[in-house]
Amino acid sequence: MGAHDGSDRAGFGCAMCCAEDAAVAQAHHRSRDGVRLERTIRDDSHFIVSVQRCGLCSQAFVSVFTEYIDWVASQDAQYRTVLPITDAEAEDLVAGRLSPHRAGALGRDRRHLRSDWPSDAEKPSVYWDSGVFEVREGH
Ligand SMILES: [Zn+2]
Repeated sequence: MGAHDGSDRAGFGCAMCCAEDAAVAQAHHRSRDGVRLERTIRDDSHFIVSVQRCGLCSQAFVSVFTEYIDWVASQDAQYRTVLPITDAEAEDLVAGRLSPHRAGALGRDRRHLRSDWPSDAEKPSVYWDSGVFEVREGH
C-alpha cells in the first residue's frame, strides 16, 4: 500500500480486485474466494456477460467474455474485459434496463482489466485499459 493507494482507482474496488498490477488483479478475479459470480446476464458460450462482486470489498464488476472460433489455429481466440460498476449499474444490467452491449460506454472514465488471448498467442496478455470499449459478440 503506497501513498498513492486508492487515488488511481477512482474510488472503485480495493487493493486486490483493482490492484495496480494487472496480473495481481487478475489472480484475485480468478480465485475462488476472490471475485465471485453474482448473476449471469448472457451465456451464449461465445459471448458470456455476468455481474461479479469482490469478496473483500463488495465492488461490483461486469465481465464480458468473447470467444472467436478459429478453425485454423489449435485454439480459439478469447477476450475478457472486466469493468468496475456501481451497484445501480449492476442492478440495471441484471434487470435488463442496461444492455450488455452498452456496458462498454461505462468505461468512459474508468479503467478496466483486459485479458487478450489471440489464437496465435501462447498465453493471454493481461493489462489495464481505459476509456469506452466495444462489446462484441463472438462466433
Ligand atoms: Zn475488492
